[in-house]
Amino acid sequence: MSRIAYVNGRYRPHRDARIHVEDRGYQFADGVYEVCEVRGARIVDERRHMARLTRSLAELRIGLPMGLAALSVVLHETVRRNRVRDGIVYLQVTRGVARRDHAFPAAGTAPSVVVTARALDAAKAEKVAADGIAVVTLSDNRWARPDIKSVSLLPNILAKQAARDAGAREAWFIDANGFVTEGASSNAWIVTPEGEVVTRPVDNSILNGISRTVVLDAIAAQGLRLAERPFTVVEAKAAREAFVTAASQIVQPVVRIDGAPVGDGRPGPVATALRREFHRHAEFT
Ligand code: PLP
Repeated sequence: MSRIAYVNGRYRPHRDARIHVEDRGYQFADGVYEVCEVRGARIVDERRHMARLTRSLAELRIGLPMGLAALSVVLHETVRRNRVRDGIVYLQVTRGVARRDHAFPAAGTAPSVVVTARALDAAKAEKVAADGIAVVTLSDNRWARPDIKSVSLLPNILAKQAARDAGAREAWFIDANGFVTEGASSNAWIVTPEGEVVTRPVDNSILNGISRTVVLDAIAAQGLRLAERPFTVVEAKAAREAFVTAASQIVQPVVRIDGAPVGDGRPGPVATALRREFHRHAEFT
């Protein structure tokens, strides 16, 4: 079955889907994106993702390309046309097409919209989660606004490749004070030896992950002890458990940090339970 992409008002065969060479997303990475999980052919936490999209756009003074109801139709239609049951739907909005100039284009320039969807292998994802993943740490060299879900991802890309090169699946960024900010494409969590679940509070230094907010709900429902505070790499290496959260992988146990095992080197009970319970706390549309 051939894939379909939505591009600026039209559904196109994926292989023929094109944007203009002077699209500001292409020229300047002047745009934002969202990735939602698709499960059972439904979109997970669409409302929260659209709220974050609206915020990212507002922070960059890019207009909403269409009403949220219309955008919802496009997201669902793209999932449907690609027959995705379990996978992801990707949405990108840029400041549109204009002659190359750093400053904003003329008022009224239409934002560009691309939506794609693809299936992910659910059985393979469960296998990865059953084994847990390795992470490496490196210094956070991103700009000061990682809270905006911008398509400017060069530091994240280099970090992810450094992880791959080291045989790991994720990289954790470390701030100037030795605290973990977040993963290259996920939020970072630990469980202390005392059983407290710890994650960094949201401010401009991290993305407020939608999965992060769902896991906070799950933690409250399970009666776990939670501290939203920064934690250091040293603390993470001495933790009982560690895990990451992201829409494409929900809750993913971390079993090694910089080559050293976390706890007994296997996925821990807290991460495993949060992964199992995750979708009870998510919304489906
Ligand atoms: N942090 C970064 C840098 C990310 O790129 C992502 C997801 O791609 C996340 C956190 C997790 O966000 P979400 O749970 O909304 O997928």
